[in-house]
Amino acid sequence: MPFAVFILGNNSAIPAHGRHPTSQVVQIHEQQFLVDCGEGTQMQLAKYKIRKNKFDHIFISHLHGDHYFGLIGLITSYHLLRRDKPLHVYGPKGLLEIINLQLSVSNTTLYYELIFHEVKSESVNVLFETDEYIISSFPVKHRILTHGFLFKEKRELRKINPDKIDQLNFPFQIIAELKKGNDCEWEGKLLKSNEWTLLPAKPRSYAFCADTIYHEELKNFIAGCDMIYHEATFMEESAERAVLTFHSTARQAATMGKLVGVKKLLIGHFSAKYENLQPLLSEAKEIFSDTELAIEGTQFAL
Ligand SMILES: [Zn+2]
Ligand SMILES: [Zn+2]
Repeated sequence: MPFAVFILGNNSAIPAHGRHPTSQVVQIHEQQFLVDCGEGTQMQLAKYKIRKNKFDHIFISHLHGDHYFGLIGLITSYHLLRRDKPLHVYGPKGLLEIINLQLSVSNTTLYYELIFHEVKSESVNVLFETDEYIISSFPVKHRILTHGFLFKEKRELRKINPDKIDQLNFPFQIIAELKKGNDCEWEGKLLKSNEWTLLPAKPRSYAFCADTIYHEELKNFIAGCDMIYHEATFMEESAERAVLTFHSTARQAATMGKLVGVKKLLIGHFSAKYENLQPLLSEAKEIFSDTELAIEGTQFAL
């Protein structure tokens, strides 16, 4: 099953050097989710031939403009394209007021239903869940209320051992128990789950850590993740500025990646002061070698 992250925007604050403000597409199984929607997101979707109509859920981390100034454009495009299925938008308090004001001054009544979910808590919130995966928010530490988002597969049932499939002539209920890991008796015979079934693939998880100062407690929310995106606005030489603005350095992002023990760390949200990103990558790799730049137009599979 596919599980991948596609980068649409990787710059902080101001678009610069051909880079755009934050936006990512997370594909988990058959569904695609939009995470943040900075200015230019629609243009980036068009550039990379990603159909915007696929999104039913949009997650906004916080209300600094570089994370949502593209949202009203996308909402309005859906209206002009006569979208008729509901759109779920998840974000902090205030976002719905902003959307409603923009719609009201242009005398627009949407053709479709926009369902707003306020992300408010200081702890973990489940936002969306299916039988296969769960998407939740977690608080990070920034100048204003900001959340990261965790995409996590659920543990699947054990798989039938392919070597035994021809001998599988038991009732459905027995097979269901074996898949759950339970041994069963059938017609006087003991059936051992670990002989008839095999362990399923380990569930995968991805955390988008939004804009944040280096904050060690974050590890409590993202422990065990296979891949995380952590902002690296500055290099260590600007560590003081990072603290003042509640952002992180490349070194700090790498320290978090190492602390959590991820397989892959993506860094992004680069300051416009860096035209060349390689020094940020080098700095991070000194601490954690499995780091990659979240380059726009790149897909990272889990
Ligand atoms: Zn930002
Ligand atoms: Zn911010």
